[in-house]
Amino acid sequence: MSEASGTANIGVVGMAVMGSNLARNLASRSGNTVAVYNRSPERTRKLVAEHPEAGFVASESIDDFVASLQKPRTAIIMVQAGAGTDAVISELASRFEPGDIIVDGGNANFHDTIRREKDVSASGIHFVGTGISGGEEGALNGPSIMPGGTAEAYKTLGPILASIAAVAEGEPCVTHIGTDGAGHFVKMVHNGIEYADMQLIAEAYDLLRTVTGRAPAEIASVFETWNSGDLESYLIEITAEVLRQVDAETGKPFVDIVLDQAGAKGTGSWTVQNALELGVPVGGIAEAVFARSLSSKPEQRAAVQATITARPSVVSVDVDSFADDIRAALYASKVVAYAQGFDEIIAGAAQFGWEIDKGAVAKIWRAGCIIRAQFLNRIVEAYENNPSLATLLEDPYFAAAVASGEEAWRRVVSTAALSGVPVPGFGAALSYYDSLASVRLPAALVQGQRDFFGAHTYKRVDREGTFHTLWSGDRTEIESAPSTH
Ligand code: NAP
Repeated sequence: MSEASGTANIGVVGMAVMGSNLARNLASRSGNTVAVYNRSPERTRKLVAEHPEAGFVASESIDDFVASLQKPRTAIIMVQAGAGTDAVISELASRFEPGDIIVDGGNANFHDTIRREKDVSASGIHFVGTGISGGEEGALNGPSIMPGGTAEAYKTLGPILASIAAVAEGEPCVTHIGTDGAGHFVKMVHNGIEYADMQLIAEAYDLLRTVTGRAPAEIASVFETWNSGDLESYLIEITAEVLRQVDAETGKPFVDIVLDQAGAKGTGSWTVQNALELGVPVGGIAEAVFARSLSSKPEQRAAVQATITARPSVVSVDVDSFADDIRAALYASKVVAYAQGFDEIIAGAAQFGWEIDKGAVAKIWRAGCIIRAQFLNRIVEAYENNPSLATLLEDPYFAAAVASGEEAWRRVVSTAALSGVPVPGFGAALSYYDSLASVRLPAALVQGQRDFFGAHTYKRVDREGTFHTLWSGDRTEIESAPSTH
């Protein structure tokens, strides 16, 4: 280990697309001297040759990289999530000194981040797991950044991250989310919401295509119109562009030549898995994840299609007013998806001991990331007005927005069901809303069933206590200790 302090105030390890773009972004901001290193030196050489303007301090060994950093040292790791990240952390941790900062900017599972933070901080080195959203374009021009870790590390790191983050209404899209895994947890939920948002838009497209009979280019125009006001968002904008695209080879709409099997990299599943563990109902997000899984089961789809002689006739609608209905259903369902995502953040914060400012999270998602949208300002306002909302749907603006679209939402879901158009996202969101809105739920019957077969006990609506009915005896009720199973 070198005793002398190097010249770079920040270093990046991992010169694949994300790391090299982030390094270029850092280098383009005044005051930064950026050290770069990659396991295979070819990537580093290529980057340095292509971007002499960046003034990179390049190293071909980890020792030289560490020596090139000013003390206290700060290095951002942008390598393959999982084993690659663990390998680089251990290389840095064995060379860094107390007070130095290791940042993992990859798509880590927050449980790994909690583990890594515990290991690394035992030797006095700060470990910051940070979510970075916006893909390669965001990394280069300004991502939304969700750092975890200690407040002390954020004092040094915060200004550097703020210098490279996207800017929304004059504010950098970065905030200290909370300790250890908080940043990666919030990034995970961001991705879950992204899945839901994309699925809902795809269902809106499917209905516009199947029920209103519009062609992809016409639907592109519909989305362009929708890309104003509360639906204005990056995802709506790119949807219009994708739908307008024509395949050069066949002259067909691009969307018609793409195989209808959606891929996934895992963060959506993590969102749902953690929601299950935390007991948070995120049905809208879960249906979006499952919709991708279902699309990628060609054998099952073909098997069911082979059993069918005819599909339902499409319900006849007024094309323009039904398009307005779809717009309202999309907005209401989207509100539900965000409400579910924020519920998961609140539950995760309670479970893992993080103090997460929900309004600040909504703020840093307004630019740089995939779910960037006008609508996030409404969430910022909702939490500013009442930081302890039981659900976003309680906020007066969202309550009114959902109520005004409610009839349209029901028309869309019922028309889709009658026409045989799958709307797992719209349907799950509406059922979620109806479940919260119902004064009585059939959960009472489920409790009765549970008590019948498992003596799981129940509570009564009319007095305190825990009860069990002697189902296999004389069916009288006894007061009972609460079930533990
Ligand atoms: P990647 O393809 O995920 O990983 C390739 C990089 O990892 C290369 O630099 C590679 O070095 C390095 N690497 C792999 N195993 C290693 C090991 N054992 N030791 C040292 N280095 C190792 O790269 P990427 O697409 O640029 O993504 C980087 C990170 O950002 C990942 O965690 C990814 O999940 C995340 N990401 C985020 C977004 C986003 O929107 N936020 C988008 C894409 C990726 P060699 O060149 O030597 O093989």
